[in-house]
Amino acid sequence: MFKALVVEKDAETGKTAAAVKEIGVEDLPEGEVLVAVDYSTVNYKDGLCVGPGGGLVRNYPHVPGIDFAGVVEESLDSRYKAGDKVVLTGWRVGEAHWGGYAQKARVKADWLVPLPEGLDTRQAMAVGTAGFTAMLAVMALEDHGLRPEKGEVLVTGAAGGVGSVATAILSALGYDVAAVTGRPETEDYLKSLGATRIVAREEIAETVKRPLEAETWAGCVDAVGGAMLARVLGQMKYGASVAAVGLAGGAALPATVVPFLLRGVNLLGIDSVMQPYDNRLRAWERVARDLPMDKLEAMVQPATLSDLPGLGADILKGQVKGRVVVDVN
Ligand code: NDP
Repeated sequence: MFKALVVEKDAETGKTAAAVKEIGVEDLPEGEVLVAVDYSTVNYKDGLCVGPGGGLVRNYPHVPGIDFAGVVEESLDSRYKAGDKVVLTGWRVGEAHWGGYAQKARVKADWLVPLPEGLDTRQAMAVGTAGFTAMLAVMALEDHGLRPEKGEVLVTGAAGGVGSVATAILSALGYDVAAVTGRPETEDYLKSLGATRIVAREEIAETVKRPLEAETWAGCVDAVGGAMLARVLGQMKYGASVAAVGLAGGAALPATVVPFLLRGVNLLGIDSVMQPYDNRLRAWERVARDLPMDKLEAMVQPATLSDLPGLGADILKGQVKGRVVVDVN
């Protein structure tokens, strides 16, 4: 028997409740690889899946946790053997499939990535889905021509998980990073990650009044979406790109197409869930190379399985700073 955070739904009231329980290997869903989980994390989607589900969870009881890192215990797939260190993000694990909030997980071999050289399982989960996605965003911006000499790069939702890792990676790569935050008390934290300028959320949160403003940003990693993304589009330099990662500020995009037509601005969609394997490998290798581990450590807030119901509620309110690392053992 081993510990897992199990979410159950009351058939009468429809209300969900999460609690740490003992379950057995025979309870786990089918899959080729059984992993002894070392660490998981708390992402925005985890907040939904630990709580009422947000339409992501179909069947109960459910074990959430959209990412995990651990050691292979048994494998029916030739690509993995007992003792291999692995990381998993995406593929709707923790939503449609049971996830990483347990001491063991059984998953498809295709969903796993070998842990890159230079990262241990704790560091991999300090990065987690949020940091992996931040790296995908930086790679997409680079693939579209972003270079440090082109100017300042904006990071929105900077004190959150995606924003913190994006800020640290961009700074380590030599970029000037302007960090947008609604929490002024995180200024010292963001500067310690390498932000060279702090932009108050109110400055950039208003809806678009003029479709084009001064050309300010050479690139943007946007975790917020909504009115802020619409506003940022009109502030991009000629030919610059915005990597749209998140919707912490809303899913609507109250924008005009003018920045695309008159400034050749690109809006790049970033999806981490169905990301092809080769690009996953490339992103994890880049994380191991380009994210300074001392900065990663500064983002970490440790937690255990029993902290998760509270942390899930906090992340939905935008109150989690940096990256939560859940030691499931
Ligand atoms: P966090 O909650 O850690 O960070 C989000 C940050 O956005 C907050 O910390 C806050 O930053 C800011 N924010 C929150 N609410 C608002 C608001 N109403 N208006 C403006 N800013 C706000 O979440 P993550 O970093 O883990 O994820 C960020 C987003 O990216 C989420 O929407 C998530 O679903 C999405 N995501 C998408 C992925 C993909 O594959 N595309 C993968 C991973 C995440 P501050 O306090 O600094 O202002």
